[in-house]
Amino acid sequence: MAPVPPVIEAPCPSCNKGAACRFGTGSLFRCGDCDLIFLSPQPDDAELAALYGEGYYHSWGDVGAADGYWPLKRALYTSLIQRVELPPAGARILDVGCATGACLEVATEQGWEAHGVDVNPYAVRVAAQRVPTAHLHQGTLEAAGLTPASFHLIILSDVLEHSRTPWALLKTVTSLLVPGGQAVIVTPNIGSWSATFLGRVWPHFKREHLTLFGYSGLRRAIESSGMELVGIAPMPKAMTVAYAAHQLASYPLPGATQLVKAAARLLPHRMREWIINIHMGEMIAITRRVG
Ligand SMILES: [Zn+2]
Repeated sequence: MAPVPPVIEAPCPSCNKGAACRFGTGSLFRCGDCDLIFLSPQPDDAELAALYGEGYYHSWGDVGAADGYWPLKRALYTSLIQRVELPPAGARILDVGCATGACLEVATEQGWEAHGVDVNPYAVRVAAQRVPTAHLHQGTLEAAGLTPASFHLIILSDVLEHSRTPWALLKTVTSLLVPGGQAVIVTPNIGSWSATFLGRVWPHFKREHLTLFGYSGLRRAIESSGMELVGIAPMPKAMTVAYAAHQLASYPLPGATQLVKAAARLLPHRMREWIINIHMGEMIAITRRVG
């Protein structure tokens, strides 16, 4: 009989209790108490700061690519805000992890007061140029000093998985929403078919993805923060061949990188920029602040 491997344990960064057992790859753990999946050990703050430096968003192809990613990001945020009860003109919208400001531009066109937070100084500078009326904060959400109970809609697209303490982040989000205000959360779903099918080469297993959720773990985190879950569903991602080629150059995937690179080289320019929606293993949760 094969020897039983020892159970490796690590403290859960969200609830600080319950033994956490090894899950999937060697460095991922699942908390038996709150269902959070987390990387352990995690990169320290210095490594993360280096990762999120000037070049972090270059994997989008935003340098020397004639801004081909911009219509793509606008399409993404347009589809996100169409899923909520649209706030009235003049409402205050916050995009956490606003990057170069595509969401802020879409929100401003709706007549909303747009606020954005991002840790990346380059992205915040670009956002300020693109959307001069937006209110921008470079740094973390917690350090931005935003007025409590003042936002009607908060967007967290590809943000939660970068947090060491996503439960605490969601509590901060709740505190910033007006009663009845809504949040839209997009994050990788570790229970998705692509995670199961791709295993260790799933594109969302990245060094900077410190925490991951399935449906049940995300539901618990949302409900513990003082929000109710309005709906949760798979989230297709707006994509072009050109964008996919840039992503796969930064985050190689065996087989796919060469295939998409060849397609990007062979296709006419117009076809490289066609926007298609494909499922990459992400989910979208719509929430509302209780009260
Ligand atoms: Zn936990």
